[in-house]
Amino acid sequence: MNVIDSIVTQAASIAAVRRDIHAHPELCFEEVRTADVVAQKLTEWGIPIHRGLGKTGVVGIVKGRDGGASGRAIGLRADMDALPMQEFNTFAHASKHQGKMHACGHDGHTAMLLAAAQHFAKHRNFDGTVYLIFQPAEEGGGGARVMIEDGLFEQFPMQAVYGMHNWPGMPVGTFAVSPGPVMASTSEFKIVIRGKGGHAALPHTGIDPVPIACQMVQTFQTIISRNKKPVDAGVISVTMIHAGEATNVVPDSCELQGTVRTFTVEVLDLIEKRMRQIAEHHCAAHDATCEFAFVRNYPPTVNSPAEAEFARKVMAGIVGEDQVLPQEPTMGAEDFAYMLQAKPGAYCFIANGDGAHREMGHGGGPCMLHNPSYDFNDDLIPLGATYWVKLAEEWLAQPASAA
Ligand SMILES: [Zn+2]
Ligand SMILES: [Zn+2]
Repeated sequence: MNVIDSIVTQAASIAAVRRDIHAHPELCFEEVRTADVVAQKLTEWGIPIHRGLGKTGVVGIVKGRDGGASGRAIGLRADMDALPMQEFNTFAHASKHQGKMHACGHDGHTAMLLAAAQHFAKHRNFDGTVYLIFQPAEEGGGGARVMIEDGLFEQFPMQAVYGMHNWPGMPVGTFAVSPGPVMASTSEFKIVIRGKGGHAALPHTGIDPVPIACQMVQTFQTIISRNKKPVDAGVISVTMIHAGEATNVVPDSCELQGTVRTFTVEVLDLIEKRMRQIAEHHCAAHDATCEFAFVRNYPPTVNSPAEAEFARKVMAGIVGEDQVLPQEPTMGAEDFAYMLQAKPGAYCFIANGDGAHREMGHGGGPCMLHNPSYDFNDDLIPLGATYWVKLAEEWLAQPASAA
C-alpha cells in the first residue's frame, strides 16, 4: 500500500482528535464544538477558514505553490454530524452525550480530511486551490443543500467536488467507486383516507377506510411491477398504517405512511404521479376523500463518469487495481447528492474492515452503520487522507482543458 509517510507519522494525533469528536457527538446543525475543533486545527496549521455556511459549516482554503493563480480548484467534503441514538460501546472514547452517537463514522470522515489538511498545509504540492468542506447535518438535515444555498459554490468556485464514506464489511485497504447512481433518492409520503365511521355490525351505514387502505397498499406495488421499466430500480414501502381503536367500531379515517427510493428523478416522478392517482381514485371509487402528501428529501447520488474514473485511478495508484471494487449501488441516501447535482464529482466508499478493531463483547464481525456498537476504524485515517491528498494533487495537475 502506497500511503504517504508523513501522514502515517501524524496518524496517531489525528486519531486522538477523531476519538475526541466521537466522545462529543452533535446532531444536525448543532455541530458547534466539532466545528470549533476543526477550525482550531486548520488555523493551527495556517489554513484560512470560513465559517457559518449551513450554520456550523467550515471551509478551509488551501492555496497551492502558485497562490491559487491557476484558477483550478477542487472541493473535498467531509460530514461532521452524529445520530440521535444511544451508544452501546463502553470504551474510553464512547459518547459522553446521552442519546447521541457517531454511529455513521462522520467523526472519521472529519478526521481523514483533517489529516489531509495538515499535509496540504505543510507541502502545498499543487497549483490551484483545495477547498476543504466540513459539512453539517448529513443525517436528514440536508446540510449540503443548505451550504449550497448559503453560497458555497459562489464563494468558493471549484470545478469538481468529491465525497467519501466508510463502509463496514469490505476489507481494509479496499475502496469502491463506480460511475452513475450509487445512492438512492429518498422521499416520504403520508396519505389520509377519510371515510365515515360507524357501528362495525352495520358497515353499510358508513364508509370503511380500512379495505380502501388495504387495496391501496397492494396496488402501489403494481407501480413497481407494471409501470416502471423492469431494469429501473425503485422501492415503495408502506411502513405505517394507523386506523381504529375498537373491535366494534368502523374507523372514520386511516393513515398510511412510508418511503420511496429510486436511482433517478424520472422514476421518482413516475412513482409520485402514479401513487397520487391510485390513492385519489381508490378513495373516489369508494366515496371516501383523500389527502395525499409526498415530500422529496435527498435526490439520488449520481457520480459523473469522468470524475469517478479519475478517482478509481487515484485509488488504484495507492492500493492496486484489484483493491478498487465496483461500488454496488445501495438504496440508502446521502445528501452529497446535492453537491453532485451542482458540480461534477464522485462519492466513493472506503472499507471500514471486518470489525476486528471493534470493542469485545459486541458480537463478531463488522457492524453496519447506524448500529449502536459501531465504531470508525482508525486504521483508515492514513489511507483515506492519502486518497484525498493524491486525488487533489493529481486532479489539479491536469491541463486546464481537462477540467
Ligand atoms: Zn448515516
Ligand atoms: Zn453517513
